[in-house]
Amino acid sequence: MGLLFMGKPLAWEDSMPYLEYIREHGVTQFLNLWDRFKDREGDTLLWGDEVEYMVLSFDADAKNAKLSLRQAEILANLQRAVTDLCTNTLADLASVPTFHPEYGRYMLEATPGSPYTGSVPDLLSVEKNMRYRRKLIRAELMPHEAPVTVTSFPRLGAPGVFTDPFHDPSNAQASHSLFLPDEVTNPHVRFPTLTANIRRRRGSKVAINLPIFFDVNTPRPFIDPTIPYVRNVFPEDPEAMNGAALPDHIYLDAMGFGMGCSCLQITFQACNVDEARRVYDALVPVGPIMLALTAASPAYRGYLSDVDCRWNVIAGSVDDRTEEERGLKPLKHNKHVIPKSRYDSVDLYISKDFNNRPEYNDTLVPYDEDIYKRLTAHGIDTLLSKHVAHLFIRDPLVIFSDAIELDDTVSSDHFENIQSTNWQTLRFKIPPPKSPIGWRVEFRSMEVQITDFENAAFSVFIVLLSRAILSFGLNFYVPISKVDENMQRAQRRGAATQQKFFFRKRIYPADTPPLSHSTPSESPTPSKRSSPAVSSLDIHGRLVDISNGIKVNGHTDGEHVDGHEEPGDVAGHESSSSRDPPLFVAQSRCPSPWVAEHMPVKEEYEEMTMAEIISGKGNEFPGLLGVVNAYLNSLNIEFKSKQRIRAYLALVKRRADGSLQTCATWMREFIRSHPAYKHDSVISEEINFDLMNALDEIARTRVVSDLLPTDYVGSKDDDGCL
Ligand code: ADP
Ligand code: MG
Ligand code: MG
Ligand code: MG
Ligand code: MG
Ligand code: MG
Repeated sequence: MGLLFMGKPLAWEDSMPYLEYIREHGVTQFLNLWDRFKDREGDTLLWGDEVEYMVLSFDADAKNAKLSLRQAEILANLQRAVTDLCTNTLADLASVPTFHPEYGRYMLEATPGSPYTGSVPDLLSVEKNMRYRRKLIRAELMPHEAPVTVTSFPRLGAPGVFTDPFHDPSNAQASHSLFLPDEVTNPHVRFPTLTANIRRRRGSKVAINLPIFFDVNTPRPFIDPTIPYVRNVFPEDPEAMNGAALPDHIYLDAMGFGMGCSCLQITFQACNVDEARRVYDALVPVGPIMLALTAASPAYRGYLSDVDCRWNVIAGSVDDRTEEERGLKPLKHNKHVIPKSRYDSVDLYISKDFNNRPEYNDTLVPYDEDIYKRLTAHGIDTLLSKHVAHLFIRDPLVIFSDAIELDDTVSSDHFENIQSTNWQTLRFKIPPPKSPIGWRVEFRSMEVQITDFENAAFSVFIVLLSRAILSFGLNFYVPISKVDENMQRAQRRGAATQQKFFFRKRIYPADTPPLSHSTPSESPTPSKRSSPAVSSLDIHGRLVDISNGIKVNGHTDGEHVDGHEEPGDVAGHESSSSRDPPLFVAQSRCPSPWVAEHMPVKEEYEEMTMAEIISGKGNEFPGLLGVVNAYLNSLNIEFKSKQRIRAYLALVKRRADGSLQTCATWMREFIRSHPAYKHDSVISEEINFDLMNALDEIARTRVVSDLLPTDYVGSKDDDGCL
């Protein structure tokens, strides 16, 4: 959640004199980092996930599941437990997961103690590591509490008691919400200040309206009886009655509804800045696809909604744009009309590759022209300059009075102030000053899943996809406007099976012949070390039969590139000493500009079902799983490891073809088939209690055949964690 400075954060009115200063010095800091790291080469794949949890407090007598507000205490105890582990069991600090605070006071975030390497054993340790984190958290909870990986808590802001301890929502000084007490927010001054400053900058409370899910007994029109329309505590109270709350919708009015949602994020390191830019771009169109496949949030403020995902809720919950910026009034005080919230999907492709045609950046993307000029004058290319100048149209939201004048040669805080409050589907992470960390890309669209098996599966899938992208030089470009459209479709109820999505038809480099993609080798016999015959592409774009051993150990052409080390073993993860090769892309493939003529952009993509996008369509389009399997087949991975990876990939495939449900669909059906459900879209305390208990149980022990493959491997045999 960004740096937690000490000292006094400035109220919005007091920040005014410093906004330009922070922006100017933020750019200076970026330029300093750029000069220092632009030529940095040879970083290996390191990667890690972030899983967010809600701590629930179960009241069995009242049949109510509540959000436990003990974050600070639990984190302190976890810190102590981690220290004890290191001293008592001599565990390496790097092997012990790291726990972080999050926006919600009922939330925790956990990451591996050190990033994973590109070794297959590391890949296969992800699930175990996630289970270990859950176990460590659970050990610090009270018997009636549990860590649950649920994306949105169905009764956050509903009438009655939804926090433990109870707090009255009528005194929310930061948010002025009608529904949420400030006590749901992490009390560190950064968070209430962020909340209040978004409201003050915007000039009103945030307003999110999610379409209600009309069940057979839901009144039409639906006028929400739980909104206190006539409350008179804060000046914004009448907003609900004056148009902010729409009929037939669930109305949400505070940052906590969005930033109080959980998610699953993956960060991986690239070998240099250009590779980071390439993989960033390739993953932009994948963002909405993975959002739909991981959909896990069908319920808000006590109601079933007609959407399955959190995305628009968070986007709306931190939408600090003024009326002028939203285009509701002519520009007078503000510089730009801004089409999107600072939390939304990526606006610009940034790779310098020839594949990145200017036509793909086809939406209105305002940027700060002075900053753009400064960056280009410094020698930075127009694409990256525009990316940064676009991020910098936003104001810094929280400024600490004792951290304004900084040494720009050693600090990146002002840069990060803007960067880390641009919450997009992908984040292009700059190497921090004074650290061994390289250029990274963060994939941010996914919703957190109920089980560690699912969270590991989606993490592993994305990491493998990123390797396939680099290794084969894949081209996923479609116009940003189509990605934006896909983002909206991805959130609709049942999108994974009901919607079509724009996707590129030919994804192999234009300078290679059409690839008749091989279906994944399903079941190599255990005795056979190498994969069955499969065609793949070498780095020159030639089709090669990789079963003949042309590819050795994952090196595309058997040669080492200077500066690349074999990714070694990082303390804390399983040793990579087995025969499995590293997920190593010796030289990422970058298609050459002189070969192909471009076809009209409109002919490059079409609408596909999720099953087609994942598993392929016709002879030309191999699907995302097709390329992941081709990549896997290019490595000589041991049979047992491959089987475990295939179990993860099977989950992705089955979510896409509808033979398994998304978490959202499963939760929606659980609610709708609950005996106490009145088919009126209302999720009572009792239904919520049973649902939250079920989620906890599934994460621990229960196999639910609609949601999970009954035969999944890997989660039971490799640890005694639970
Ligand atoms: P943020 O909240 O800013 O996204 P976190 O520190 O919470 O960042 O999570 C970052 C993730 O990146 C963690 O999973 C961590 O293991 C991983 N990570 C750390 N160092 C590297 C690195 N050098 N390359 C790639 N990933 C890294
Ligand atoms: Mg984090
Ligand atoms: Mg974070
Ligand atoms: Mg961090
Ligand atoms: Mg987080
Ligand atoms: Mg993150």
